[in-house]
Amino acid sequence: MSTSLGPEYVRALAPYQAGKPIAEVAREFGLDESKIIKLASNENPLGMPESARLAMQQAVADIGRYPDANGFDLKAAISAKYGVPQDWITLGNGSNDILELAAHAFVQPKQSVVYAQYGFLVYALATQAVGARAIEVKAKDFGHDLQAMAAAIADDTRLVFIANPNNPTGTFLPAAELEAFLKAVPQHVVVVIDEAYNEYLSADLQYESTDWVRTFPNLIVSRTMSKAYGLAGLRVGFAIGQPGVTDLLNRIRQPFNVNSLAQAAAVAALTDKAFLQKSAEVNAQGYKQLIQAFDSLGLTYVPSYGNFVLVKVGDDDGAGARVNLALLRKGIIVRPVGNYGLPQWLRVTVGLPEENAAFIAALKTILG
Ligand SMILES: *Cc1c(COP(=O)(O)O)cnc(C)c1O
Repeated sequence: MSTSLGPEYVRALAPYQAGKPIAEVAREFGLDESKIIKLASNENPLGMPESARLAMQQAVADIGRYPDANGFDLKAAISAKYGVPQDWITLGNGSNDILELAAHAFVQPKQSVVYAQYGFLVYALATQAVGARAIEVKAKDFGHDLQAMAAAIADDTRLVFIANPNNPTGTFLPAAELEAFLKAVPQHVVVVIDEAYNEYLSADLQYESTDWVRTFPNLIVSRTMSKAYGLAGLRVGFAIGQPGVTDLLNRIRQPFNVNSLAQAAAVAALTDKAFLQKSAEVNAQGYKQLIQAFDSLGLTYVPSYGNFVLVKVGDDDGAGARVNLALLRKGIIVRPVGNYGLPQWLRVTVGLPEENAAFIAALKTILG
């Protein structure tokens, strides 16, 4: 349906393509739902932590009431974990909400936003949704070229998005490079470092971006409870930034953007160290399982620091879509990335050992 209503930049938006839900694939391909394996949305294959389930069961009693609009308990838990005051925290309906809020709070129509080629697609959507101009900077080895990104900042640039690790490529920027970038960025440009996969980084790669927040008033660090914490369906994310930026984000967010079950579950999950550790272990093992198979099949992949791998499944531009369809017919859902300009590749989420094995077996058969 075409319409002349609304601004041109909104009409030109292409909606975000999410991973196919299990029930939809079952309907489309006539498959048994219980046999379908979903490795398409970087969800935690362990599901949610038991601690979060119990917290939600208790919170159900109060569901007739509005959630705490200020998220006091959740902010207190985040504050304790990261050592930042509560007025440095913004809660989001998933971190996707945080990314959108940043675009709305800091960018006017026709001003520009800088992000990387192969950067998370939501950056492009959030930019276009506010009528801003995108400055997409060519990737270096599938990752961010921070020097080129610093150089690309224009007079009218108000926002830079960086994902570390990046989705869908899994690339990682070491702390020293990021810090040098932050020093090079003019103070009137807000930088969002989106750390959706931070919890999967090994100890030697971990860095405390919240320390940089103390130094750089134009920095926002974004985190999510959707990946390692296993709460994707609840939609909880948060931002850490100095009060100057946090105050603006809070003015434009919906007052009840994080529901009460989500708040209760997030508080429990944040301090569930055992679950987080297990998630990282399962991921490290599953990642090995996948790349060993790719090696033995002679497939090229981008070494990943997240809970997914980008793998090249053919040399022609139909390869990604073709192999994706063949996998769907076998009840395995992965993510085609043609919309990222990567039509020869698929992004596969690291699953449980048996899920990875089923995917590998199917891939072997398909590729012959
Ligand atoms: C998954 C993801 C998010 C968004 O996750 P939410 O569920 O909205 O919190 C944000 N950034 C990146 C890079 C992601 O991969």
